[in-house]
Amino acid sequence: MKQAVSQMGVTRTTRTLSRINQPDGFDCMSCAWPDPDPEHRHSAEFCENGAKAVAEEATKERVGRDFFRAYSIADLSDKSEYWLGKQGRLTEPMVKRSGSQHYEPIAWEDAFTLIATHLTELVTPDEATFYTSGRASNEAAFLYQLFVRMLGTNNLPDCSNMCHESSGVALIDSIGIGKGSVSLLDFYSADLIVVAGQNPGTNHPRMLSALEAAKRRGARILSINPLLEAGTSNFHNPQNMRGMIGKGTDLADLHLPVKVNGDHALFLGIGKLLLEWRAIDADFTDAYTVGLEEWAEHVGRLSWSTLTNACGLSLEEIESAARMVSNSRATIWCWAMGLTQHHNSVATIREVVNLALLRGDLGKAGAGLCPVRGHSNVQGDRTMGVWEKAPGWFLDSLGAEFSFKPSPHHGFDAVESIEAMHDGRVSVFIGLGGNFAHAAPDTGYTTEALRSTKLTVQISTKLNRSHAVCGDTAIILPTLGRTELDMQSTGPQMITVEDSMSVVHASRGRLRPASDSLRSEVAIICGIAAATLGDRHDVDWGALAGDYSLIRRHIASVVPGFEHFEERVLRPGGFVLPHPPRDSRTFETASGRAEFGVSQLATLEVEPGQLVLQTLRSHDQFNTTIYGLNDRYRGIHNGRRVLFMNRADISNLGFKAGDVVDIHAAWRDGRDRCAPAFRLVAYNTPRGSVAAYYPETNPLIPIGSTAEHSNTPTSKSVIVTLSLSSAAPIRDDDRGPALDELDGTGTSGLVWPPASGR
Ligand code: SF4
Repeated sequence: MKQAVSQMGVTRTTRTLSRINQPDGFDCMSCAWPDPDPEHRHSAEFCENGAKAVAEEATKERVGRDFFRAYSIADLSDKSEYWLGKQGRLTEPMVKRSGSQHYEPIAWEDAFTLIATHLTELVTPDEATFYTSGRASNEAAFLYQLFVRMLGTNNLPDCSNMCHESSGVALIDSIGIGKGSVSLLDFYSADLIVVAGQNPGTNHPRMLSALEAAKRRGARILSINPLLEAGTSNFHNPQNMRGMIGKGTDLADLHLPVKVNGDHALFLGIGKLLLEWRAIDADFTDAYTVGLEEWAEHVGRLSWSTLTNACGLSLEEIESAARMVSNSRATIWCWAMGLTQHHNSVATIREVVNLALLRGDLGKAGAGLCPVRGHSNVQGDRTMGVWEKAPGWFLDSLGAEFSFKPSPHHGFDAVESIEAMHDGRVSVFIGLGGNFAHAAPDTGYTTEALRSTKLTVQISTKLNRSHAVCGDTAIILPTLGRTELDMQSTGPQMITVEDSMSVVHASRGRLRPASDSLRSEVAIICGIAAATLGDRHDVDWGALAGDYSLIRRHIASVVPGFEHFEERVLRPGGFVLPHPPRDSRTFETASGRAEFGVSQLATLEVEPGQLVLQTLRSHDQFNTTIYGLNDRYRGIHNGRRVLFMNRADISNLGFKAGDVVDIHAAWRDGRDRCAPAFRLVAYNTPRGSVAAYYPETNPLIPIGSTAEHSNTPTSKSVIVTLSLSSAAPIRDDDRGPALDELDGTGTSGLVWPPASGR
């Protein structure tokens, strides 16, 4: 409430929070955790971080032409993400012209024409790249990819490239579809729920309600994470009295503090024991799978010393976990970035799938695979065709619907787009939402790449770093938020989104827009497309912008599972998309069966004095949006430049808790990647493993350090070294006075020891 009322006031807070995630309301613009069926929804169907996300969007603060007159690009470049985000909502289109240091107002049509000029002057459309953040609606995403493909390229990187791409690759290879197979209802009939590499307490908070309900029904919970997080320890559910005044619910029955990047070895160890114990659903493996023998031989050859050293856990700990799996009739396997952002992530996730196949945890109630998506419509955007590697059948279907031949050549993903901008192969960057400059890895390199372009265009609701890290010409196109009324020529419009469990539902904003000159994502894309493509294609962009049901009619023709889209999405709660493994144990793989995968165990080579860093979010953060400077579940207040480190590692490396250090990334290109001035916090991390927040540590993630097969940046395992810092301490909420001038105690509000005593 503190965040909401301070930014929106009481009336707006009441109006928005009473409508978030309600059947006729708007969808939370934060994570992709599903909503309960309409008849089971609470009147307050949101979590703390959902409320913060709404407050950030529906804030009364505004950023207009006076602001941009006062602050130059250089000024903005020197501001923290937190400060930029707190300036408020963008109110009108702005342009930074070549050679100028300030943004100035521009008319919408002039902006579209300027963009069209840049795009049509390109030698090939592959000199432009079109990024999508997971906030874009299905309708906007579908039109965006249509426009880009009509322009003639597949350069459609999206935030999924940097988060769950490894999940998609592993799932498509093993079960034939890149999506999770569970529904929210499965949580209420599972025997065991495995939560691996995920911090639901901060990143999917309403998941805790589902875990609590499962726990109360007798399910067991296995938590696998280098850090013991408050969310999987004990949960005080604010939705019920017991949670508010009682002792709360202990969630994890077993927490395994696997070392960073030790997950693959752990899952291999669990598999090894299940095979030894013959804890196999042979009816399922015989009828629906292939490759079990090869996998069993591979696992059999691995020694326990190799596995326990690689995961940093004892055989007894691995046995406890394997026992929980073998005693479970139905297991849900959940994971997030802690598994997807490593060089061997696809192999690790294939191992999770192997365990689920061994146990027959597909196509039965209470069981399944559950990659939990971090952004509200990231899954929907991919379903709509925002994919640089779209399958042939989708391109054919799209071409048939709109009478054109999309290019069959794969486009650039996020990392490839940065490399192409850096070496001049791409000169135009367009961002549909998001904050690419700070979400991307290797901040220094990415900044050079974006600043070397001729044009950057950001379709945004709020100010962020990507508006200061821009091309020679830069355009900001301010768009409507989810909470706002989207009035078009045929009346108020609804948009649709798809959550982590393949439920497609409607979202309708009602608030008066932050400014009368805002346009919807759909209207902006139609404006750019009409100005750029002219009458090259028989598409009435104006009509589509005026009535989104026309867009949904095209989606219904092109995308499988969207038949009768309009009628079905108008039902309260929407509809669930097909998932052949879940629905009928059908596997559209090369073999037509679910495939066990054999992946060699590859461990990180860490030299003495080196540590393995995982980047993570604080509790007051969603992706690169910084709601506040606290991370109360970890005992951190009024600051973000902290490095969580094992107390023994701190003293072994000759430091002491509270020291300010520079973090250096070791990488083969010899480039000195350094993130300066982090305060050491003694924390319960596994030996050799450290953790710190992004985007402050994104400068350390080398552009070339990506996951095999998925090309996802290795944001969860970066090899680093530390040195005592001589840098001027950096203030998080601006670039004013130094940190330890705040309270003169040199601890700048950090609480010692953290309240949890860990
Ligand atoms: S759990 Fe996720 S989607 Fe739900 S209210 Fe919270 S942040 Fe929003």
